[in-house]
Amino acid sequence: MRVAVIGAGAAGCLCAAEIKRRLPEAEVTVFEGGTKPLAKVAITGGGRCNFTNSFENIGRLEEAYPRGARLMKRALMHFGPEDARRWFENEGVPSVIMEDGCVFPASQDAMDIVRALERAMRLAGVKVICRHRVTSLENIDGIFRIAFSGSSLPCFEADKVVLTTGGSPTAGGLSILSPLGLETVAPVPSLFTFNIGDESLKSLMGAVVNDALVGLAGTSFKARGALLLTDWGVSGPAILKLSSYAARDLADKGYRGTLNISWLGTARETECMELLQEMASESPHKQVVSTCPAALTGRLWRHIAARAGLREDLRWAETGSRGMARLASSLACDAYTITGRCRFKDEFVTCGGVSLSEVSLNTLESKKHPGLHFAGEVLDVDAITGGFNLQAAWSMAYTVADAISSCSGDGDGAC
Ligand SMILES: Cc1cc2nc3c(=O)[nH]c(=O)nc-3n(C[C@H](O)[C@H](O)[C@H](O)COP(=O)(O)OP(=O)(O)OC[C@H]3O[C@@H](n4cnc5c(N)ncnc54)[C@H](O)[C@@H]3O)c2cc1C
Repeated sequence: MRVAVIGAGAAGCLCAAEIKRRLPEAEVTVFEGGTKPLAKVAITGGGRCNFTNSFENIGRLEEAYPRGARLMKRALMHFGPEDARRWFENEGVPSVIMEDGCVFPASQDAMDIVRALERAMRLAGVKVICRHRVTSLENIDGIFRIAFSGSSLPCFEADKVVLTTGGSPTAGGLSILSPLGLETVAPVPSLFTFNIGDESLKSLMGAVVNDALVGLAGTSFKARGALLLTDWGVSGPAILKLSSYAARDLADKGYRGTLNISWLGTARETECMELLQEMASESPHKQVVSTCPAALTGRLWRHIAARAGLREDLRWAETGSRGMARLASSLACDAYTITGRCRFKDEFVTCGGVSLSEVSLNTLESKKHPGLHFAGEVLDVDAITGGFNLQAAWSMAYTVADAISSCSGDGDGAC
């Protein structure tokens, strides 16, 4: 059996190694368009590779996977985060779990993950061919014909194909699938930060709020977590999560809208009011701006008080019920205009890709083209930050390896 894996990224390399280990007689070839395998994995997590997550801080799977949670539920049963840790440990890469659930190689070096996958492929006997960008994939009576650009190899025929070409921020990245007539979901970027027009907010650059609630006005998209104020607007885990949940909505609106910030992690004005009343009764003669809620910095508190229209020299006893109400409202729901998006370091993932309606969720095999499987970001599956995207790549790769190896037990490739 000839198996072609297209794309030597996270999903492609793990999948190829696993197929070849289980089917040593199969000819497993990985075609990579770039000059070397796993180039993106080498720079993940800022070079440390956050390769999975304990999932302990995740409630519903949709919180981690805004697109593809149903598929991931099954894929995680094939190969979950503990399996991923064990797999790399067996390949000589022990890992550590951080307090926030993120998992890294103990060495904090992404190259250990890269080398482990390369070694696993080499020892199993996988052939990796770089500088072979696949330009088209055709299904001719159940045999897949693969064509390349800029290669001396005219084309390659395979009985099974695993497409692991990753995310693509433009629809052009999915053009190789055109001859197959597969439905795709228009790709748009996910995981970005927001530009905010308000100059007074930008002047707070560097301020961090550990537990903020952020949301998009007029929608149900919300996220909670740390918020970082930057010189262009807002960033941090809460914003990255919100950008993931609302990736398509924001793309449709040209990255414009209103960001609501609940500075104390609650949008309930009554809760904020209780805290303010407590502060007022503890120090009635102190200036409001000089007594700040424990969760906020003094600079940020001054900014919030100014947004509520309170004078700098106002004392708690002089605030009055209207002033208190305005302050509670600014704390619970402060609104800022989003003027655009900005990249988060160089990290982004694609929302969109091959439609999940095209694949069987148990095998990730194309319903229209038996023998063609998909794994990784090429499918319409993506996650928030924290190691969930790489876990998705490993889980799907393993699912495909399970499917291909279990359906070719008699050696004739029939399934
Ligand atoms: C800077 C950065 C940091 C990140 N950090 C993390 C992190 O710490 N943790 C985490 O979970 N996720 C992280 N991610 C996301 C994660 O890297 C991806 O979700 C994951 O790599 C997807 O795996 P994949 O195998 O689907 O695709 P990729 O790893 O992107 O691999 C796809 C491969 O296919 C090749 N290819 C594409 N088209 C063709 C073609 N036509 N012919 C041949 N080859 C082709 C590409 O060159 C590439 O090598 C990060 C992303 C970025 C950009």
